[in-house]
Amino acid sequence: MSATRTYLDYNATAPLREDARAAMLAALDAQGNPSSVHAEGREARAIVDKARDQVAHLVNADPADVVFTSGATESNNWAMAKVWDTIFAADIEHDSILAPAHASGARVREIPLTPNSVVDVAALEAVLSDSREDIGKALLAVQMANNETGILQPVADIATLARGHQIVVHTDAVQAIGRVPVDFHALQVDLMSLSSHKIGGPKGAGALIIRDGFHFSPLVSGGGQERRRRAGTENVAAIAGFGAAAAAAERDLDDMARIGALRDKIEREVLSSEPNAQIVGRDTPRLANTSCIARPGIKAETQVIKLDLAGIAVSAGAACSSGKVGSSHVLDAMRLSDEIRESAIRVSLGYGSTEDDVAAFLAAWTGIGESAARAA
Ligand code: PMP
Repeated sequence: MSATRTYLDYNATAPLREDARAAMLAALDAQGNPSSVHAEGREARAIVDKARDQVAHLVNADPADVVFTSGATESNNWAMAKVWDTIFAADIEHDSILAPAHASGARVREIPLTPNSVVDVAALEAVLSDSREDIGKALLAVQMANNETGILQPVADIATLARGHQIVVHTDAVQAIGRVPVDFHALQVDLMSLSSHKIGGPKGAGALIIRDGFHFSPLVSGGGQERRRRAGTENVAAIAGFGAAAAAAERDLDDMARIGALRDKIEREVLSSEPNAQIVGRDTPRLANTSCIARPGIKAETQVIKLDLAGIAVSAGAACSSGKVGSSHVLDAMRLSDEIRESAIRVSLGYGSTEDDVAAFLAAWTGIGESAARAA
């Protein structure tokens, strides 16, 4: 990252970690196909297996349960395969859950949320009990942490409830890994999606973790790679980078206290300099790196452009939905007022964030308010 830029958009993507870059460069020289039996093939296979161990370790899964994919969008599409009669999902899920769920032919049933956009477990229990007779083969999808607000879901409680109704449970853990401890075994979910680039690995790599004993047909079929679960010659270099990033992210989990303190400083100063500002989800359990800051009176897009001109990278809602007219579906689902939804920007920190970044952001953010006041 250029020294003159301040990057505060880790939830969109994290800068490549040095360890990941080194692992990828080394892997580029492994010329074999991991499926080949000769020495070159075995060398490439060893790289993939090491990465599998590293990714499994980050989320306390068995390495054999890790299936590498082209990213969490593929993993989520796979989980929403055309095999379910009913899919339970909340409005705040990522588009890579909602779009394939709706396209799958399954009946999509909404998971009830509290006004803070946390799953209302008691209301969900009522929904599941009422619908027990007619749900057929059912899947429940619940994210661990929201990409726009950082709000965390009680996934273990939800999974316990769903299991009691013989419902398969998928969790999108993309924004949670490396930020909060994630334990695939303890959560007792069947499927979990991961992405490499949110933790400082390369883009275009991810995984679906599939519980041992859970039979799930491939989304991509062809060759016998990934134990016949995902065909196609492995993207060895990207997988190596994903693995190295997972190991680094695990080592760095303790760093979240430092990152949380930086985030909290931003929020304190924003609220004290602009009494109308609001932090979405401030009183709700959420990731320590994410801040969704609404500033009534100045459109989010305007703020993002002005901050960019001042050298600061943040986003308005999810980066993946930028370009879309209207506000984010996540903030819509929270039923916030128009002025909050239209003026909310997302600031997300990560392993490279510093006090200087916080100071640069605060100076630029305050400056936008001053120029808006002058123009008024
Ligand atoms: N789920 C969530 C919660 C995300 O934030 C993202 C990335 N914006 C994805 C899934 C998709 O991940 P990928 O970019 O690896 O396809």
